[in-house]
Amino acid sequence: MSALFETYSRSIAFEKGEGMRLFTKEGISYLDFMSGVGVNSLGHNDAHLVRAMKSQAEKLWHVSNIFSIPQQEELAQRLVDNSFADAVFFTNSGTEAIECAIKTSRKYYFDKGQENRTDIIAFNGAFHGRSLGAIAAGGNPAYLKGFGEPVAGFKHAKPNDIKSVKSLINENTAAILIEPIQGESGINVISNDFMRSLRKLCDEHDLLLILDEVQCGFGRTGKLFAYEDIGITPDIMAIAKGIGGGFPLGACLAKSDIAKSMVVGTHGSTYGGNPLACAVGNAVLDRILEPQFLPHVQEMSKKLNWHLHQLQQRFPQYIKEVRGKGLMLGLKITPPVSEFVALLLKNHLLTIGAGDNVLRLLPPLIVQQSDIEEAIEIITKAFKEIEEVDKLNG
Ligand SMILES: *Cc1c(COP(=O)(O)O)cnc(C)c1O
Repeated sequence: MSALFETYSRSIAFEKGEGMRLFTKEGISYLDFMSGVGVNSLGHNDAHLVRAMKSQAEKLWHVSNIFSIPQQEELAQRLVDNSFADAVFFTNSGTEAIECAIKTSRKYYFDKGQENRTDIIAFNGAFHGRSLGAIAAGGNPAYLKGFGEPVAGFKHAKPNDIKSVKSLINENTAAILIEPIQGESGINVISNDFMRSLRKLCDEHDLLLILDEVQCGFGRTGKLFAYEDIGITPDIMAIAKGIGGGFPLGACLAKSDIAKSMVVGTHGSTYGGNPLACAVGNAVLDRILEPQFLPHVQEMSKKLNWHLHQLQQRFPQYIKEVRGKGLMLGLKITPPVSEFVALLLKNHLLTIGAGDNVLRLLPPLIVQQSDIEEAIEIITKAFKEIEEVDKLNG
């Protein structure tokens, strides 16, 4: 029995973590290939992060955003220096970063005297978080059900179908909102061509392009941000998950002419960007900006991808597709993914399912070749077990 809302069906508990591994209180070790859903990019108990956090914890945890926060200003400047953006608003989560992005896009047109322009075109299969605004943006009926009239102003187009986007644009459209790689709905990589067409469409119709890089950003694809590989820049971008390495932190980034609509009184957050969070955020960025860090992600991505394709050749009856980019990879499988995830857990490998019956692999970005080989061995063993059972059943 638990005193918690039953919003999650939970399994085992962990007591500590070290690098790629998590340990139960009995000391049983699990190999982490999910990173708390794309969060623990530096794995567990990273020495640099722990030092940064401890040192800030002994000085100052929190002050209100009515005071200057040097750690926050430093992190904002570094994000600006390393992205398309000119200004940053810090949040505690991805959902809040999306809320800020939506509000900022609407306020931009409001300030231009185009108050009617509040509509945002999002996509089928999207996930943007769980607030009322974010579930309306995501549009997933399962997440909207039971929570009243959805927040108005969201329409949904088909990913990779530019005609379906064009048909939704009218005089009330403010922005297009998209995940460059849809995470929750099954590691669905949006094509570069389509992403570029969206940028072009936004320029032609004076719309804002909002990217949700909450899951695919912060080094996950092998670049600091996924848009870098696409060859476009957004106008607004939401990030979170990897940015805090496990400490709750998110951010909304924007170009200056857009960010400037958000003046004193228009938006706020009590905790967002507090000294402790930003000290950790700065430490995460220290590591990710080390010259060898992102090349390592790219190299490990190649290795993991290679193994996954080998696995697909070995078990074509169970693996329909290898999907993803960088260390955001997925296997579309035929056995029910929740059962397969449970089978891997039983074999001490942590993974997570996604929509479309996809097994999602999001290892910490510090993963090594030996970890990949170990994970592949466990996944192979699991498929072999299923194969045995299928053989017995004829
Ligand atoms: C996880 C996620 C969110 C929501 O982030 P929270 O921190 O859970 O609020 C939003 N968008 C995408 C793409 C995500 O993967």
